[in-house]
Amino acid sequence: MIKIRHTLPASSTWPGGIPPEVVAAGDAPAGTAGEATAVGQGVSVTLRSSDPYTRWEQTSVIRGAGNGSVSAVAYAALGDITASQFASLASIQRELGADVRLSNRQNVVFRGLREDQLTTLYARLEAIGMARPGAEMARDVVACPGADTCNIAVTQSRGLAKAIGEQLEEEGLAEVGGVRINISGCTNSCGQHHAADIGFFGAERRANGRAIPGYQMLLGGFVGDEQIHFGQKALRLPARNAPVAAARVIRRFAEERKAGEPFQEWLNRSGGAAKVAEGLKDLDLIPTPDEAPDFYVDFDETSPFAVNVAESECAT
Ligand code: SF4
Repeated sequence: MIKIRHTLPASSTWPGGIPPEVVAAGDAPAGTAGEATAVGQGVSVTLRSSDPYTRWEQTSVIRGAGNGSVSAVAYAALGDITASQFASLASIQRELGADVRLSNRQNVVFRGLREDQLTTLYARLEAIGMARPGAEMARDVVACPGADTCNIAVTQSRGLAKAIGEQLEEEGLAEVGGVRINISGCTNSCGQHHAADIGFFGAERRANGRAIPGYQMLLGGFVGDEQIHFGQKALRLPARNAPVAAARVIRRFAEERKAGEPFQEWLNRSGGAAKVAEGLKDLDLIPTPDEAPDFYVDFDETSPFAVNVAESECAT
């Protein structure tokens, strides 16, 4: 129970609650060491080290205060892993003799490590491009395959996931912990947008006589005591403004939350999804094709947006 909980940020609603050992020992969820400290203000993103190993260790190593376990996350950005990376991960597992799990954020978690194995693990992961800091944190956006490979997709959910990650990097918010962004390219929910702190699903918008890629934003979804709580509708946005909207919500959460406060509690305290959405309404503006032609082209596409839904099974 204790080991498992370490990789579940903001999981005070996990069945049975937080184990007493963790409450007593002050355990922290993945990558949040140093955040939301006793003063209860904000996220000390700027205090992260500039040394690559230390930064990875601060954001991707999980230490269990309850039983002294050490785990570390190998970051599979957008859930992508090549065959060669898989072979390397297997080799690392054999070398270190660690347990391996796949996380709900589409990463690979090495468990049962010793402290003296961390530098080796970092070097091996760095060599295969999986030691980037930020796994399981705000920039680690999960998306369904979307229009990349799904015949019934409306939008390029993976393209938006990448764009949100880049926006968060740019604004210094990439390593905020305790908030999860999930995206589906249509209403079918393969990206689990309905159960995320910040969720998006793809929807066609129309403006100036043209179709544009758009998203419905939801806020406050989470996995509760043996049931899912769906996120509440916040507002609809043109796809190109969704990254800025996500960053604004995360900035507010990071600046306003109390120590250890889960996203949904902060959201309730802030008046709920509709209230928070009031601060995003200026983003629901669609410029003309002459003013901003990119609003009429989806992420990772080159031609004007059009919904070409074919007969198909879901791609996930
Ligand atoms: S059907 Fe599933 S995989 Fe396809 S776009 Fe919709 S949510 Fe994504």
